[in-house]
Amino acid sequence: MADANLKSCVLCDKSGARACSKCHSINYCSKACQLSDWNIHKQLCSTFATFDNSSRPSDQHTRAILFPVEDTKPQLVWVPWKWEDDDGIKWHCTDTSSFLKLDKKHPCQSRSVVHYNPILQRALDDQIIITYRDEFLYDGSKVNMSIANASCGKSSKDLHWRGPVIAYGKKGQSDIFCRDLGMEDFRHIIDFLRSY
Ligand SMILES: [Zn+2]
Ligand SMILES: [Zn+2]
Repeated sequence: MADANLKSCVLCDKSGARACSKCHSINYCSKACQLSDWNIHKQLCSTFATFDNSSRPSDQHTRAILFPVEDTKPQLVWVPWKWEDDDGIKWHCTDTSSFLKLDKKHPCQSRSVVHYNPILQRALDDQIIITYRDEFLYDGSKVNMSIANASCGKSSKDLHWRGPVIAYGKKGQSDIFCRDLGMEDFRHIIDFLRSY
């Protein structure tokens, strides 16, 4: 297995980067790169470091990141999935509807597949799926404060997201097997949300 201390830097992709000493889930090549990520990273670093991974309800749950509407901080949650079979191809089908609080007023969800970071201008090794209410701009959903805070700006793009938003991971570039999200994913999710 690769030594966590020899991964590449999340910001500049230089190899030999060291892990964050608190969460051990993201790597930086230098103090400068660590500092420039800190305003985003600090939103979830200690939550991640103290998260009880043994609280996973079953093997068919994946660690995901929820952006609640009225809380100031994102949260780690367990999203359930079940096996589906499409013409002999078995895959993990997740269910995020309860997190999105879908109801009569907000009946549908939509999703974006993230495989590229437009701010860091780099392709991602593994896909991230972001789900949200389909009509969040028009269905009366409130501005998502945890996204506005986590993206640490007050630009109109940061205030664009409304209603709950949840992100989960898939392995590689196919939409087949779930994987737990980590802190590198968090950076990519924030970059997606603030540039969408
Ligand atoms: Zn770097
Ligand atoms: Zn950290």
